[in-house]
Amino acid sequence: MKAVAVTPKKQNSVRLVRIEKPKVSDIKNGRGVLVEVLRAGACGTDREINNGEYGVAPKDFNFLVLGHENFGRVIEIGKNVTELKIGNYVVATVRRPCGNSIYDTIGMQDFTTSDKYFERGISRLHGFMAEYYVEDADFLIKIPPAIAEIAVLLEPLSIIEKGLKQAADIQERLKIWHPKTAAVLGVGNVGLLTVMALRMRGFQVHGFGKQAGSGYLNAKLCESIGATYDSTDDLPLIESTKNYGEYDLVFECTGYSPIIFDAMQTLNENGILILSSVTGGTRKTDQVPSDKINQMFVLGNRAMVGTVNAGREHFEMGVKDLALCEAMHAGWLGQMLTHKVVGLENYEKVFEILNNSTQYKAIKTYFEVGKI
Ligand SMILES: [Zn+2]
Repeated sequence: MKAVAVTPKKQNSVRLVRIEKPKVSDIKNGRGVLVEVLRAGACGTDREINNGEYGVAPKDFNFLVLGHENFGRVIEIGKNVTELKIGNYVVATVRRPCGNSIYDTIGMQDFTTSDKYFERGISRLHGFMAEYYVEDADFLIKIPPAIAEIAVLLEPLSIIEKGLKQAADIQERLKIWHPKTAAVLGVGNVGLLTVMALRMRGFQVHGFGKQAGSGYLNAKLCESIGATYDSTDDLPLIESTKNYGEYDLVFECTGYSPIIFDAMQTLNENGILILSSVTGGTRKTDQVPSDKINQMFVLGNRAMVGTVNAGREHFEMGVKDLALCEAMHAGWLGQMLTHKVVGLENYEKVFEILNNSTQYKAIKTYFEVGKI
């Protein structure tokens, strides 16, 4: 079968490979599920792996099949699979337990303390930019047919859901927490999904980006779901609290780490800042009012937490938000799917769009591998 692969740590090595089609019997406990890939999403992680920044090939391979954002259809099941049937739509989670940390042994591998990750399409396991994959049913999330068209957005959404779940867990310290306002920093595909998830929870949401709002699809999507959008060139984040008040929750997804220090200064008392950008660079900043920030966090009981990867419960929360959003704002999520590329053999087009996403005005680029 066809798959899109890279040689990890080698720049621009993306190519089409032919590998053996997996079999249900590859999973030894009878819990194997063979899935036909219908869509595979592409994002900055795939771009960075193809840039040679990170990525690890599976044992005995000198290449890594890419793809962690996925959506597919069950075509065969093992004898011990009771929760899925042939024809069901599914999305697979990404990280697998490695067994070296207590969190891996209790099914919370998204909180692993091991730095040896096993992640499909990223580290040590082949990904979903392929015609088929086989997986243990434990790692598959069943998708209602009503959200099939947009379910390729579930994996990126799951990271946000984990952030919001952690915020809710941390804020249990307050016994009562009724947050009203939120700022979302960055309105790319992760930011827009965050705006959506917060609107589904009833927050007043303020989205911020670099680009001017007029004619900017991402700004329009913020506004059409009831959020505001401002360019930080017109309204710097710190100034924005004069218009909107201090935020109960701030969600950072710009990829530009210096902004987190501004974000800390916009939090309300007892507020929480969630960080989701993976910034592998070496950027430093000395423009930090450290006394002020420290005082705000100490005297105002503010908190900050990072979110990465996601467990089954976060994917399941995401399914509910996608369904609720489709019910409340039919077609909104579909507008995020800006760039469809038909066929894995057209991988060069996908990477061209990823490398020039601003020019292409791309929100989500994805392969259509099979028909829904
Ligand atoms: Zn991704």
